[in-house]
Amino acid sequence: MALIVQKYGGTSVGNPERILNVARRVIATRDAGNRVVVVVSAMSGVTDSLIKLAKEVSPNPAEREMDVLLSTGEQTTIALTAMAINALGAKAVSLTGAQAGIITDEVHTKARISDLSPGQIHTALEGGNIVIVAGFQGETSDGEITTLGRGGSDLTAIAIAAAIKADLCQIFTDVDGVYTCDPRLVPTARKIEEICYDEMLEMASSGSKVMQSRSVEFAKKFGVIFEVRSSFNQNPGTLVKEETQNMENVVVRGISVEKNQAKVTVTNVPDRPGTAAKIFTTLATTGIIIDMIVQNVSTAGTTDISFTLNRDELPKAQAALQGAIREIGAKELLAMDGIAKLSVVGIGMRSHSGVAAKLFEALSGAGINIQMISTSEIKTAVIIDETKIAEAANVVHEAFGLGAGA
Ligand code: ADP
Ligand code: ASP
Ligand code: MG
Repeated sequence: MALIVQKYGGTSVGNPERILNVARRVIATRDAGNRVVVVVSAMSGVTDSLIKLAKEVSPNPAEREMDVLLSTGEQTTIALTAMAINALGAKAVSLTGAQAGIITDEVHTKARISDLSPGQIHTALEGGNIVIVAGFQGETSDGEITTLGRGGSDLTAIAIAAAIKADLCQIFTDVDGVYTCDPRLVPTARKIEEICYDEMLEMASSGSKVMQSRSVEFAKKFGVIFEVRSSFNQNPGTLVKEETQNMENVVVRGISVEKNQAKVTVTNVPDRPGTAAKIFTTLATTGIIIDMIVQNVSTAGTTDISFTLNRDELPKAQAALQGAIREIGAKELLAMDGIAKLSVVGIGMRSHSGVAAKLFEALSGAGINIQMISTSEIKTAVIIDETKIAEAANVVHEAFGLGAGA
């Protein structure tokens, strides 16, 4: 008898019909002789509309209250899923994140799991139940409700799979698996059969939101092998694990895009130790996450420093930096949004050259201007105009021969 964790995302539980579909699939898994723990997300659109509601009553809602609010989305789904399973004649019980034993730190809206005591999950399983756990939420050791960051139900599923030593962890979503690029953007994208943690992590953290990046980090740390697959059919999905066959030979595994980016440039920064530290310490204390950083070579004793960040954080960054700019004697702060990031990812880049050249050539062939460039061991990324991102993704995908039939 295997112990299986299944996670169903927002679209998969998006309406009563789909919740019943999930209930049937879960019962079928149980009837095949398995014990099943199911993690569910809020019904699609619910988390976004709760955020919108909050903004309508308060311009800057307290993060503690946001967690109390947002956790209701998943709480609705666990109850409905358990009811659906019970109505179909099987036995299910729902558990909130706290009841499932998920303990987190105190960082509201993006809490980290610090401990997981699955006693209540085991008791419910032993009672012959299918156990339905609310994704995306936990509680602090003081009993405060927390949430795990957007897409956090993936993390709940992986963490529970690790804690109960599940034999199988399946992430059910609205596509057949992890593709070479978002199939909604690049129609020729191909499903990847196997991908290693490092590649999945780079893709997830550079915009492939099919998996929450922190959940992949967690899976890598605890060696949780998981499968990403569709809740709407029986097709095999993508296996995510430490190593895949011939992993070094595949130079580019996939392409990620991230819209909603903004760029800030601090001009005429005096070229002396401590100026960059001042800028980025100021940003760090506000909790703003910075992505690419580029500093030019200094000419005439000053230099420009540019960085990118999520567009939503731009006003906060601008406000935070005003004082620092005066203090270090820089000239001005230029900000622009309407940009996007395209990243090509592959473990094989460690041992193959020419990826950057091919990427730049593909973009130039389409007349797309590159505004910033960054590289890491297994990723090359560029910032371009947001309006060009779909075209860029398609030409780059084609240039690296990633498409169907390639
Ligand atoms: P869920 O609600 O099930 O968690 P998400 O919306 O978070 O689902 O993630 C699934 C979506 O991720 C897909 O619908 C797809 O548009 C998008 N996506 C982005 N990049 C990729 C990729 N490389 N492969 C597959 N899907 C991707
Ligand atoms: N409901 C949460 C979100 O929309 C968590 C999740 O879906 O994984 O981000
Ligand atoms: Mg998701």
